[in-house]
Amino acid sequence: HFTESAVVHRLPQQFFATLVQKVNQKIATGADVINLGQGNPDQPTPDNIVKAMQAAVAKPENHEYSPFSGLPALKQAVANYYHDHYQVDVDPETEVAILGGSKTGLVELPLAVMNPGEKLLLPDPGYPDYLSGTRLADVDVELVPLRASNHFLPDYDTISTKSKQAARLLYLNYPNNPTGAVATVDFFAKTVQFARDNQIGIVHDFAYGALGDHQQPLSFLQTPGAKEVGIEFSTLSKTYNMAGWRIGFAVGNPDLVAAINAIQAHLFVSVFPAVQEAAIAALTGPQDSVTELAHLYETRRHAFETAAAAIGWQATPAGGSFYSWMPVPAGYTSESFTDLLLDKVAVAVAPGKGFGSEGDQYVRIGLLTSPKRLQEACRRIGKLHLFTP
Ligand code: PLP
Repeated sequence: HFTESAVVHRLPQQFFATLVQKVNQKIATGADVINLGQGNPDQPTPDNIVKAMQAAVAKPENHEYSPFSGLPALKQAVANYYHDHYQVDVDPETEVAILGGSKTGLVELPLAVMNPGEKLLLPDPGYPDYLSGTRLADVDVELVPLRASNHFLPDYDTISTKSKQAARLLYLNYPNNPTGAVATVDFFAKTVQFARDNQIGIVHDFAYGALGDHQQPLSFLQTPGAKEVGIEFSTLSKTYNMAGWRIGFAVGNPDLVAAINAIQAHLFVSVFPAVQEAAIAALTGPQDSVTELAHLYETRRHAFETAAAAIGWQATPAGGSFYSWMPVPAGYTSESFTDLLLDKVAVAVAPGKGFGSEGDQYVRIGLLTSPKRLQEACRRIGKLHLFTP
């Protein structure tokens, strides 16, 4: 018998595992569950990418070990993508890291650039997996609240001098999971200033970077000075419906890129080169599918939020991602409301508390099913008469 190490012991609980278990139990009773709880894209990977992968798998050179830091051609494709989409110039060799999904890099980063006992600032609510990296590296966490009153952006003026002095990194994520909020030019400019004033590195998670309502979301690297203070993580999971393929990248400050590569080389060796070739096809091929995808989620958001408003349930304003952030009715917590919805009307949502204590008055809706099902979910919830239309 083996017992788990102290590191494994302090890893956070996999928050979605409990949710999935509850949903599966409900499905087992024969209920027609509308599952809006998870963030798994429901559309297929575009055909040109699948075909590129099929061709790449057949090439013998892709069966060998490949460079730790990624194929030069993919790093060049990432640099070209930043140039074409954001008018940002990056050096493919020193400012791009290729990752097995962005999560690996986001989790490795504290291990790569921090020492035990140092402090990292995390958004609350925020993507739960950021916490895993802090536990692996044994660093301290301070939560920075994101509130509706400040458009779900952190208010740097409320962070104490002591915390600012102790902090090494700040994680941000826009378009935001779970709130759907987007960043502004002004906010990113303030962020660069905050980073400079306090010597804090900025880690921008741009997982939903291609999924803006009406307009392309801002890249942090478009902000003057951003590359000196930070790094931006992207993934193909959401943009091209490739969550299972495990491919992403980070772009920005060369010291941070080098530190990630140092860990990456030991833990993962490299991403399967055929997947990297497919990623080149994704980034350099036609982008119509991406435009259509952003439009699809926007249509779903509109259908859901209109149907919700009709039963008196008002969404918080959002500008991107594929989530709606919905308030919990009076008298409930996010967990008791989530349980009620699953129990009484077979609608699964994600309790906001899973993203941090600031989320406890909200639930997250994943817009990952048809407008019809989203409207049906609202119709069912309406029968509970929890809101006043
Ligand atoms: N960051 C955010 C905000 C996410 O929501 C997700 C996935 O749900 C990720 C990162 C991880 O994506 P990847 O599949 O690239 O690891």
